[in-house]
Amino acid sequence: MSEQKKTDKDILQSPKGMRDFFDDSFYAKQGFIHTAENIAEYYGFSGIETPILEHTEIFAKGVGENTDIVEKEMYSLETRGGDRLTLRPEGTAGVMRSYIEHGMGSQPQPVMYHYSGPFFRHDKPQKGRYRQLYQFGLEIIGSQKPEYDVLIIQTGYRILKETGKDIVVKINSLGDSEVRKNYLEKLIDYYKKYENEISNKDRGRLETNPLRVLDSKEPETKKVNQNAPTCVGNLNESSKQHFDTVLAGLDQAGIRYEIDHTLVRGLDYYSHTVFEFVVYDDNGNPSHALGGGGRYDGLAKTMGHNKDIPAVGLGLGIDRTIETALPETFIPEYKKTPDFYFIQLGDELSVASFPLRELLCAYNIPVRFAQGKNNLGTQLGIAESLEIPYALIFGENEAKTQSVIVRTMKTREQETVSFDNIITYCQSLKKGVE
Ligand code: AMP
Repeated sequence: MSEQKKTDKDILQSPKGMRDFFDDSFYAKQGFIHTAENIAEYYGFSGIETPILEHTEIFAKGVGENTDIVEKEMYSLETRGGDRLTLRPEGTAGVMRSYIEHGMGSQPQPVMYHYSGPFFRHDKPQKGRYRQLYQFGLEIIGSQKPEYDVLIIQTGYRILKETGKDIVVKINSLGDSEVRKNYLEKLIDYYKKYENEISNKDRGRLETNPLRVLDSKEPETKKVNQNAPTCVGNLNESSKQHFDTVLAGLDQAGIRYEIDHTLVRGLDYYSHTVFEFVVYDDNGNPSHALGGGGRYDGLAKTMGHNKDIPAVGLGLGIDRTIETALPETFIPEYKKTPDFYFIQLGDELSVASFPLRELLCAYNIPVRFAQGKNNLGTQLGIAESLEIPYALIFGENEAKTQSVIVRTMKTREQETVSFDNIITYCQSLKKGVE
């Protein structure tokens, strides 16, 4: 497709579905990531970072050729050397690639990782849906024990509870590969009977990805789905045992869940447990999903590895989570609120004020510097509008005497303090602010 001619105005806009994070949105995103990392570390996860680009086949094979992500949503490119690479649409396949590449299977199993960052899906942008989206992910690789499904859900739940919102886990089981194969046959038989009653779009999916018909949003298909056979009702003994242990674990952990027979998740690689975290609105109705995940025991082999590697993981949508949480819920610990606004009177003093700046920063006193604005009234007005409690005023006299005037904004009281005493003085004022 040829590119449409763009005007200068178009070019000065961020690409469709992509956005800037600054001020509150920047700190909310960072704050959420810090909170999530902190909780995940308590639960025993450690950090991993994989490249944003991977070989296209990692996703084409791993996520599944007939999924929306691979069919329509990948950003792919060919490098100058002729490699076909794709901007990661999700995190699991890359972490599994890393596990295989670094022979992590020889470490004590399972390995448990957390990660976060941008992901890319060429989806239709709308509220809460971006083309560059951010996720926080957890993966536990190397164990098939259902207790790890519980641990993943528990950790994700604890993180999302930090939003202060009512969170419910929707959960389903897709069983092992044998269950899934038999169930798919049953499902297709069922839909064949109602072929004329489901939507056109879903009729097409029957051929390519029949499980997707189960979680269809089309009203006519939803009606047919009410009596569709359930996967949980068709589990074999071992899959049933796996699912029962997961549910018992959630009960023990005090996590609210609901079995949702239509929950299948969009990607091909899931088996056994699949789940989503749904947030409830103020009227107590399910509103939207903040994240989800599941077990993916077959992914490694689908990606080309010589054997299956059992694993379970989740992805939390950072964009939606911070939009759902109340303002100021997530603020990173490193964010500084300046207690002092430094005003220097006269450009010629700007260099003379450097030692003072160094001194304050060295003693961890957060200061906002106003360099080169000369009018004292204007500058005090700025300090006031920023709600900074104290101003430090540095004029010619102060430069000569190596001192600075400390002004309490509210009372307008002022005191001249020498450089030698300024740290102790500021520290005592800062204590008063806290
Ligand atoms: P998924 O990887 O599709 O299972 O998505 C996990 C979570 O990521 C979802 O529950 C959403 O909160 C979030 N998410 C998925 N796609 C997008 C998107 N295009 N824009 C923003 N958030 C998204």
